[in-house]
Amino acid sequence: MRIDNIRIEQTSECARLAATVTWENRARAQGDLYFATPPEYADALSARADVFLPAFGLLATWYGEARLKIEGSVCPLLFEGVGANLRFLRAKEGWPRPLPAIEVKLDRTALPRCPGERTGLFLSRGIDSLFELRRNLDLVPRQHPFAIQDLLHVQGAGFPEDPNFRLGSRALEDITCKFAAITADTGISMIPILSNLRQIAAVHTPHFARFWQDHFHKAAIASVAHAFGGRLSRIIMASGCEAWAKAPTLSDLPHNYNSSTLQVTHFASFSRFEKTRMISEWPVGRDNILVCTKRSSSNCGKCLKCLWARTALAALGKESEAFDIGEVDPWVIRRLALITPSYFVHDYDTLLAPLRAAGRLDLVAAVEELLAWAGPWDTWRDGLISDLSSCLPAGARFVLVDDSALQLNGLAEDRRAIPFLERDGRYWGSPPDDATAIAELERLRGDEAGFLAVAWSSAWWFDTYPRWSAYLRERFPRILENPRVTVFDLRRAAERSTAA
Ligand SMILES: [Zn+2]
Repeated sequence: MRIDNIRIEQTSECARLAATVTWENRARAQGDLYFATPPEYADALSARADVFLPAFGLLATWYGEARLKIEGSVCPLLFEGVGANLRFLRAKEGWPRPLPAIEVKLDRTALPRCPGERTGLFLSRGIDSLFELRRNLDLVPRQHPFAIQDLLHVQGAGFPEDPNFRLGSRALEDITCKFAAITADTGISMIPILSNLRQIAAVHTPHFARFWQDHFHKAAIASVAHAFGGRLSRIIMASGCEAWAKAPTLSDLPHNYNSSTLQVTHFASFSRFEKTRMISEWPVGRDNILVCTKRSSSNCGKCLKCLWARTALAALGKESEAFDIGEVDPWVIRRLALITPSYFVHDYDTLLAPLRAAGRLDLVAAVEELLAWAGPWDTWRDGLISDLSSCLPAGARFVLVDDSALQLNGLAEDRRAIPFLERDGRYWGSPPDDATAIAELERLRGDEAGFLAVAWSSAWWFDTYPRWSAYLRERFPRILENPRVTVFDLRRAAERSTAA
């Protein structure tokens, strides 16, 4: 693949660093990649080839491009580091294809450092980045070069991603608004950034989602950091130490994204609970926590991460305006399926002692029950396969609600899963509404689907499609229900209606 035509463009609305991306081995459209920010930060943008090496080194590898050719020259230090990360990830993940040849000039001259030292922090408002901000404010004198002077928030190139997010003229302002309380309280400026990196990089498969989360996210963020190399000499990426230690696939190394002008720093020396404790004593931080995996600009209060944060705050005896639900319901914790990433199991584990100390034995019991079921994605999938093998008769055709995430090829061949929704035997996305879900269920039932199974990873369907859910529960007996899967027998209701 080639990256060329690297340029900085300015309009009255924004300043953009852009480049043309051309695929050479993959049949993907040529397109312009950009990183956009308000005009007042135009000087921060760096049009060096360095910007593209972290993200596109990994993309070229993953997509099997024979080479990555970038116009211009890169810092030799960054070249070495990205190469090391790629070799490391390929060996670790067993990617079969050879690494792409990286064709780029090395800039061997002594590179000018940006004027003055300046440190930035990527801030998502998650526990890790809020903690890094608070700790930096508490520990580092404001005049020191390590003191955070810029907060950066990027949409379109990182996560958490907003599924409803559209790149538009108001998007930069919207980001600035969401951080207004924090910038007012800390006096630190916020640089909003929009990019289409995710659009340029993505294919819509579960494999890509996994690749993004496990590998690409940090490389993408490193590219964003280098795009602001005209202003920053150091950038802090916050993440959890449990994630680092427990999830081996997250272990590509941020310091390998250093160049001679930009240092990428990563800290992970405190547990998530310790970080939450520190944030809980900072009212603006506490009220601006945003951890949800389901929503983007507010917390649902019920997902894996929301519930963890709420339970941690309950153990600390603190309340937060970030969650508009009051007390944590032990039943909701019990019902929460703990799935991949498996390091989150450890995060729940760490809540037991503080909850006991706070006398919240109801929550202790709920978390213990949750942990008893917890396991990584693969273990759950294997468990679900044996659940289905034991409860479905040989030769059964069944509807599988899994949003095409599970790939159940371990099922005995004579039991056949029908995706839901389905078109010509292929997965056709989630339904727009209850009525469609019910009509499609009935259509497949008429087509001799005997059962319907809802996998844990798609349990959100029960909340999102309440009429479909009630329709199922009222008409069809449940022949299996556990935290992994709920199975309905679609045949017996047919008998009843025939009898009637
Ligand atoms: Zn949530």
